[in-house]
Amino acid sequence: MAKRDYYEVLDVAKNATDEEIKKAYRKKAIQYHPDKNPGDKEAEEKFKEAAEAYEVLSNPDKRSRYDQFGHEGLNGAAGGGGFSAGGMSMEDIFSHFGDIFGGGFGGFSGFGGGSSGRTRRHVNRGSDLRVKVKLTLKEISTGVEKKIKVKKYVGCKACHGTGAENGTAYTTCSTCNGSGVVTQVQQTFLGAMQSTTTCPTCGGEGRIITKKCNVCNGEGILKEDEVITLNIPAGVAEGMQLSMSGKGNAARHGGVNGDLLIVIEEEPHPELLRDENDLIYNALLDFPTAALGGSLEVPTIDGKAKVKIEPGTQPGKVLRLRGKGLPSINRYGVGDLLVNVSVYVPESLTTSERQEIEKMKGASNFTPSKSVKDRIFSKLKHMFD
Ligand SMILES: [Zn+2]
Ligand SMILES: [Zn+2]
Repeated sequence: MAKRDYYEVLDVAKNATDEEIKKAYRKKAIQYHPDKNPGDKEAEEKFKEAAEAYEVLSNPDKRSRYDQFGHEGLNGAAGGGGFSAGGMSMEDIFSHFGDIFGGGFGGFSGFGGGSSGRTRRHVNRGSDLRVKVKLTLKEISTGVEKKIKVKKYVGCKACHGTGAENGTAYTTCSTCNGSGVVTQVQQTFLGAMQSTTTCPTCGGEGRIITKKCNVCNGEGILKEDEVITLNIPAGVAEGMQLSMSGKGNAARHGGVNGDLLIVIEEEPHPELLRDENDLIYNALLDFPTAALGGSLEVPTIDGKAKVKIEPGTQPGKVLRLRGKGLPSINRYGVGDLLVNVSVYVPESLTTSERQEIEKMKGASNFTPSKSVKDRIFSKLKHMFD
């Protein structure tokens, strides 16, 4: 669609003064204001078109380019600043030209920064910091205190984190009176509607630095080493993430610190495996002990335990040592230590051992009957359920 001539849009002469252009735009803006024309797409287009025309004609540089080259003169023009003509949303229009509605025209009031009395200053937040901590099962079983050194942003002491020299070289933003937001009230058929946007002048901080702190170059933060004490609770597991609120990076120009995120890594135990809160030990019994019974020493988190082996213990049997596992992180009890029994078959034999075993080979007790096989296999089968 070809663009209409901007002077035509605002219904003003080519040599109109700035004041005349402003007045003409205000008239159009009120006439086509969306609150007066709810749901009227054509009015909305006219409202946008008028804003676009005003954006160009109210700017001396753009106006002279437009006068010389028409619409083409504005395409990709350098120094246009802010937004390009034609691409304005309703929000752009209100935030850039809201003040045009001020002064008792149709009840539209303009920028009312701070006039609401509420401060909604934007608060900067520092980024989160992530560290990995490697723990042994023993440390996990009791919980542990760890001291770690991290490099992180901390507030600059010279300027108290403000970024302004001595913490005082700043002024209150005059656009928003320090509130960080610009408020705009519109009278609609439904009553007063208020909308607020971040102050474009100060970026929501409410103040403008007049002289930068030279220690932090106006950032308000510096990178430093800090030793942090972590209190890791019992029962944590590989990959778990704990967070310490406020222990992350400090925010630029003051504000709220980020969090410190602690990622748990588990150091493998040389003999014990972990299954949630249970521990597993694979025991390899010698054949005489499995056949005759006896005792077996098994490793635990904090030492060793003796386990009684019944005569005739089969491979695949699981012995459970209650409470010898790990505590649950939410303190609901403690896991068990499970001993998985296997039976070791000698891999080489002396001549006399061979003779002894040869003698046993024919004995009826050494060959499982069908019912024994069924009983043992049905037990083993459950392990795969
Ligand atoms: Zn401001
Ligand atoms: Zn500083």
